[in-house]
Amino acid sequence: MNRYAVFGQPIAHSLSPRIHAAFGAQLGVELDYRAIEAGRETFAETLAAFARDGGRGANVTLPLKEDAVALCGALSGRARRCGSVNTLIRDGVGWRGDSTDGVGLLRDLARHGIDPRGRRVLLLGAGGAARAAAFALVDAGARELVVANRTAARAQALADVLGTPARAWAWDALRDCAAFDLVVNATSAGHAADAFDWPLAAGAAPAACYDLSYGNAARPFLAAARAAHARAVHDGLGMLVEQAAESFERWHGVRPDTTPVHEELRAVLDARG
Ligand code: NAP
Repeated sequence: MNRYAVFGQPIAHSLSPRIHAAFGAQLGVELDYRAIEAGRETFAETLAAFARDGGRGANVTLPLKEDAVALCGALSGRARRCGSVNTLIRDGVGWRGDSTDGVGLLRDLARHGIDPRGRRVLLLGAGGAARAAAFALVDAGARELVVANRTAARAQALADVLGTPARAWAWDALRDCAAFDLVVNATSAGHAADAFDWPLAAGAAPAACYDLSYGNAARPFLAAARAAHARAVHDGLGMLVEQAAESFERWHGVRPDTTPVHEELRAVLDARG
């Protein structure tokens, strides 16, 4: 049986094996998809061993997405642009790298009826996921993309790479900004803190807020967005399912229906509380 896996650290609670098993069952694709723990020091050798054992494809998550770029013999255009790989495809004797996070975000935004075209968007964060989100939002026609990050230099570097319509803005100065149509949280702050340091002025309620995180990690940002009277708030569970569907299609040549899998996972997260 063809082997697939997600690599990361920590990885024990990854939902990816469940998602890919559900996609496989839906489409009659037999596959063995596991979560494999690997840190930055062990990733290269663990991935090589996986390939020797018949690994045909892999997902890559925190903290390995940028390291994965260097392990690929070829990169898709979008992976090269955002400097991040979340999908590895076995290609002869090497790996081809792709980044499906950006398209996953856009598909889930569309599912929520959110179209970034012509919109004023605030992106919080400048890490790997933020980079993928930023390129996707600009490609989708955002009129303005303001990037703010705890480490301001990283926001500036991302805005410089993106060019117009992106610009960096100091986190502390966001209070002076007019309301945004969409605020996307691509920080990992919610994994470590109970409260989110809401950066916008009280009177500048955004139309929609989206957190790339899901489960407990999304709670602080979503609570802060609700308190700021955002009209719609969404977590990143749908993005997780959509980016997985994109990876699945790269590996198996067929596209799964994401709706039932999204519903199943929502029930799993609700049960976890
Ligand atoms: P990353 O590369 O490690 O980047 C982390 C980002 O969060 C950086 O911008 C960092 O700022 C910022 N940050 C960390 N702690 C912070 C704090 N206490 N206050 C403010 N900013 C803070 O991580 P990543 O891969 O981009 O992932 C970011 C988040 O997106 C994670 O929660 C991840 O689970 C989620 N994600 C979800 C999906 C999905 O499919 N739904 C896909 C990818 C990622 P500095 O630059 O100052 O360190």
